[in-house]
Amino acid sequence: MPHVNLQVPAVAVREIRLNTITGFAGNATELVSQSRCGGLVDQSRSFTQCLGCSTSNAACMVTLVQDGVVISHGPVGCSSCLHEFAFTYRVNAPLRGVQNPTQRHIYSTNLSEDDTVFGGNQKLADTIREVARRDTPQVIFVITTCASGIIGDDVEGIATEAEEELGIPVVAIFCEGFRSKVWTSGFDAGYHGIARKLVRPPRHKRPIINVINFWGSDIFSRWFEQFDASPNFITPYATTESLAYSSEALASVQACTTLGSYLSGALEQEYGVPALRAAPPYGVAATDRWLRELGTLLDKPEAAEKIIARDRAEFLPRVEELRSQLKGKSAYVTAGAGHGHSLLAVLAELGIKAQGAALFHHDPTNDIDSEDADSLVAAVRDYGDVPNFNICNKQEFELVNVLNRIRPDILLARHGGMTLWGAKLGIPSLLIGDEHYGMGYEGLVNYGEAILEIVENDEFVKNLAKHSINPYSKWWLEQPPYTFLGDDE
Ligand code: SF4
Repeated sequence: MPHVNLQVPAVAVREIRLNTITGFAGNATELVSQSRCGGLVDQSRSFTQCLGCSTSNAACMVTLVQDGVVISHGPVGCSSCLHEFAFTYRVNAPLRGVQNPTQRHIYSTNLSEDDTVFGGNQKLADTIREVARRDTPQVIFVITTCASGIIGDDVEGIATEAEEELGIPVVAIFCEGFRSKVWTSGFDAGYHGIARKLVRPPRHKRPIINVINFWGSDIFSRWFEQFDASPNFITPYATTESLAYSSEALASVQACTTLGSYLSGALEQEYGVPALRAAPPYGVAATDRWLRELGTLLDKPEAAEKIIARDRAEFLPRVEELRSQLKGKSAYVTAGAGHGHSLLAVLAELGIKAQGAALFHHDPTNDIDSEDADSLVAAVRDYGDVPNFNICNKQEFELVNVLNRIRPDILLARHGGMTLWGAKLGIPSLLIGDEHYGMGYEGLVNYGEAILEIVENDEFVKNLAKHSINPYSKWWLEQPPYTFLGDDE
């Protein structure tokens, strides 16, 4: 059973809740076998280049709520990354058929040095009132930062007072960057705020299925209509109303266990909405299992079999052709944990040898306490080991060193800024922003065709490599890639 505590304002960070790690080098089988026996050790680095901030992940989820506004309570610099989500919201709207995406409204209380001495409570209270007056939102999300956390502003108390005064939810989200080395702790902080303050008890069950995702295209309606249901996407393009009554859904599924298991666990624990305990549907094996489990959960197993037969017949012949066209190719993956595992499954189905992966963290368990929902366990069981498996919170110096040695035929990345390292080395690199692009049987066709196109058209990256200057020295590229990992001396 999930173990979510909505009575407290802040959710415990992943290092404490899930024993999450950010440092490991070995292979995927070792990582899986160490994960559930208490034997997994987080290897620290004696040198690190960067660290993600949970604030951005919390903001990533709440900025996408159509009728909400976001206030970053801190120095203005902490909100500098938030424009990215306004961009994401706008450019991905067509993927979900949203014709007129609303303008995003993102504010900062702009804490100054004086505020860090005398406190920022009044500034926050005034900002909330001013934002409510200007924008008349249905919900105000207040995300905390290191500065407001260190000076001990009473963000929860101010939010509660403002909520009573304004008559709309004002949700305090505790996601100060210093709280966690695992940036995905920010997702949990955002969902914790939503589960505490927005979700209401169900009035009655409705034929909807919660889909906890980023901003990917709607591939679910086509599946769910066979179950006489429709998707309720959380949080991209959701409204305060649709989030409030996510408690009325028949089930919750997630694009990625890393992203969704906290909220699906909270909905199950608090309102009895069952969370699907199957790894997300990437690759034939996982898609078969996911659809069958959903059919069982909804008591419509025949509908699942119908989709499987229909989609296999439609897409698998082309997958077979792609396998022969991609035969002998190799790849390296860099991505967040859950989606990275899914990309490994997609590669294996296409017959492409994964030569390694650098994933940003590893959760040995998840908030629905299910090994079946663990996409790395599923990928290893279905397709076998992956060598050169590195847990690396975006330490690009390690990635460049490894890529320079392995030289795969293609680099698959999930985040902007990572593909350039492959391209500079002359390795064709592919970044797909739509996380649903690789889902289901059709996802294999999508990825297979995209990979084929870029490996066959590598002239640009080959030329780029000839003219690129690698910022890393020859000395570093000759060192073992994990020189600074597990060395606390
Ligand atoms: S780590 Fe702290 S100071 Fe840096 S952006 Fe995040 S909240 Fe702000």
